[in-house]
Amino acid sequence: MRLIKLLSSVLIVLAVFSRIIAEPASAENVTPPKNIILFIGDGMGVGHISAAKIEKETLNLEQFKVLGLLSTQAIDSLITDSPAATTALATGVNTLVGAIGVTPEGDPLKNVLEYSKDRGKGTGLIATSNVTDGTPACFVAHVSSRHMYAEIADAIAELKIDVIMGGGWGYFIPKNHEGSLRQDARDLLSELSQTHEMVMTPQQFRALGKPRRLIALLAQENLPPASLRPVPLIEMTQKAIEALSQYENGFFLVVEGSQIDWASHHGNGEQLIEEVIDLDEAVGAALEFAKTDQQTLVLVVSDHETGGYTILNGSVKKKKVTQASFFTEGHSAAMVPLFAYGPGSEAFAGIHDLAFVGQTLISYLQNP
Ligand SMILES: [Zn+2]
Repeated sequence: MRLIKLLSSVLIVLAVFSRIIAEPASAENVTPPKNIILFIGDGMGVGHISAAKIEKETLNLEQFKVLGLLSTQAIDSLITDSPAATTALATGVNTLVGAIGVTPEGDPLKNVLEYSKDRGKGTGLIATSNVTDGTPACFVAHVSSRHMYAEIADAIAELKIDVIMGGGWGYFIPKNHEGSLRQDARDLLSELSQTHEMVMTPQQFRALGKPRRLIALLAQENLPPASLRPVPLIEMTQKAIEALSQYENGFFLVVEGSQIDWASHHGNGEQLIEEVIDLDEAVGAALEFAKTDQQTLVLVVSDHETGGYTILNGSVKKKKVTQASFFTEGHSAAMVPLFAYGPGSEAFAGIHDLAFVGQTLISYLQNP
């Protein structure tokens, strides 16, 4: 009888303990990170990651222990787009398809990068398309259309983001200059050259020292696809971390693997895998920094799934996807994966929506 009593009390203690450790962490009871690195694989679903794993075998993504799923719908549509989805990620507010950093009523929403600036943190923005594209735009601008590229470039310059990398120099030079994509005479490159170190070619990029503020615009509009990109995403990410880790109050860096989405729209399975691997390499560099630094939250998310991509056949021996299907040329409503590492990562485990990511990051920045 005493043994049964003892056993049952042990069981009760174990049950209580397991409830304590199973209790999901919330933003309130965790140590906020000093630095945040947010990777967005545009259009990257579970199928995309599966294909990259088949061909690369081991992904850096496999180092993460905190995983989640995000539902992606916009307020007005089950199938979202990059502006609405990234506005939710960046501001914590779900909005209408097409909206860049604004509410359904068109009012501006403060985003994670702007909150980071308020905290005196360094800020960085990297995209493998052009830096004024729909996804990066949500971290800088508050406009009704993704096609307002010149206005988005103005916002990048006015926010004085410390590190800017990607394509799009055409939007930063006045209309009478060769290659300009602007309709006015504003010269953002000369404005920014007062405060930033500026490079326009891979050679100049690789010759950079250790500036705290830098702009690397390596194409007139979009960067080429991963297999032709003169500077892989990992190099840009490492350079950005090197610059931003010099900021005493920490930093916020957003890195977009933009062309996973484009490859999926075009039904280009080969490029899709190369783009996911390019992003994964950059994630590896961020994890390496975060593991040493111990104060950095690394998040990898997607804004939506593109293509309804499914692997149908392949070779185990050759580590090759040989047959895949794209169910749509557009986006799908499938949930997308989330990976989190570092201080504050536990709060992201489980199933949430895109806006939860923004809300949680902003709560960390409001309660440092
Ligand atoms: Zn898309």
